[in-house]
Amino acid sequence: MKFKKSVKPKKLHSINAVLIKYFLLLAVLLIVLVEVVCYLIVRNTAEDKARERLSLIGRNVAAMVNDDDVERQIREYRLDGINVCVLSSEGAVLLPGDDSAEVNLKYGIEDVITRLSDKGKSSVIFIQDHYMTYASAVEYEGESYVVATYSLAVINGAARSLLTYFIIVGVVVILITIMVSYTISQKLTSGLKNLSSTAVQFSKGDFDVNFANAEYSELADLSDTLNSVRDEVKKSGDLQHEIIANVSHDLKTPLTMIKAYASMIREISGDNPEKRDKHLQVIIDEADRLTGLVNDVLNVSKVTATLDEIKFKVFNLTDFLYGIINKFDYLQETQGYKFMVDIDSNIYTRADEEKIGQVIYNLLGNAVNYTGEDKTVYVSLKKSLTEERVRFTVKDTGKGIQEKDKVEIWNRYYRVKENHSRPLKGTGLGLNIVKIILENHTFDFGVDSEIGKGSSFWVDFPLVSEEIENSGGTA
Ligand code: ADP
Repeated sequence: MKFKKSVKPKKLHSINAVLIKYFLLLAVLLIVLVEVVCYLIVRNTAEDKARERLSLIGRNVAAMVNDDDVERQIREYRLDGINVCVLSSEGAVLLPGDDSAEVNLKYGIEDVITRLSDKGKSSVIFIQDHYMTYASAVEYEGESYVVATYSLAVINGAARSLLTYFIIVGVVVILITIMVSYTISQKLTSGLKNLSSTAVQFSKGDFDVNFANAEYSELADLSDTLNSVRDEVKKSGDLQHEIIANVSHDLKTPLTMIKAYASMIREISGDNPEKRDKHLQVIIDEADRLTGLVNDVLNVSKVTATLDEIKFKVFNLTDFLYGIINKFDYLQETQGYKFMVDIDSNIYTRADEEKIGQVIYNLLGNAVNYTGEDKTVYVSLKKSLTEERVRFTVKDTGKGIQEKDKVEIWNRYYRVKENHSRPLKGTGLGLNIVKIILENHTFDFGVDSEIGKGSSFWVDFPLVSEEIENSGGTA
């Protein structure tokens, strides 16, 4: 069997590419987020610390401005990178007295004074041109100010080098991400690729392939499903071969008979009316057999195709049943078959009359085919005493059906091998048609059988009262 290759929709992406893309995106996002957050935290924390320290130093110098020790203290602070001095309101350096050159004011003293008077506070701290400055008014030789400055270059430099480290780490993380996502996607897709190449083999008609993948549960489920699809396809292929063999065999026999009897009429019995009629009857019977066979094959696809089209209607099942039994009169007259009936009168049911006719016909036909030496078929239609239903039963006295076959016989094309002598045609489709129709009606049905004693096929019809006859519509 060959399957057509499906046309690929235009924009298909491989799992590998998609996985790597999303992994990368996630990694980059996380790295950027972590970097920005860390950078901000580090910078802000360092600045906060510097602010705290600067104002502590400023306050300390202001407090000891008149002490002898103040100059030594200021020098100590300077060694630590904090540039402290006391300035007069004109900007002259009052303390430390000896090294005014080291005063590193990025702005004039006026700026400090303005800021102090703008704030209305005794001290200010501010950042300008990468310098943090603390200033407060102090009483030292008249109006003067303690000014302490600290360069933020160190903090900014540290933050920048942190950023550089982060970029290096980021690149490493991205490389690792690519490797990991590639490995994962390879692992995931290798199973799929295996399944796909097995499927290609399968599509080329190799039904012995095995879809195997035990690594991931989802793929294992898919493999199981594909394996059962393989079995089903194989089975249906086998069935097709079998039915072709069966049908052609069944077609051949009547055709051979028709040809033989037609030749016989031409060469031998043409002038003998009695013999000729007998031979013509054989031809007619065989032609009927052929018609029945073809109908059966056609019917099975018809009932399957019209699953939802059950045309429910209320009808007299008793009369309907008698009508079908009468069709078998010719078998009673010509071949000695006996139909023993026990049918309740005036039973009404609601169903698709035409389809139920086919069910009954098939069951009666089978009973005739498979009944025993006594050629007797028992047909009954009995009301249930307890429920609103009526049971139709067809019983024969044949070989019976083995337990293992009781389920299989309802399947399409299934025929129990041993049974072959029969007056009616057989295709292995009859019971399948019965099953599909009754399942569509949701009627209960089944078979009871005892080996050597015969089989009894039954169907439970809903019992409806005569008054609502024809009031039912299409379901
Ligand atoms: P077929 O056309 O071969 O009769 P069916 O679908 O009607 O096909 O039946 C399937 C198989 O079930 C038959 O081949 C036969 O072996 C078995 N079967 C059906 N009816 C009876 C019966 N009344 N007694 C014994 N076997 C039966």
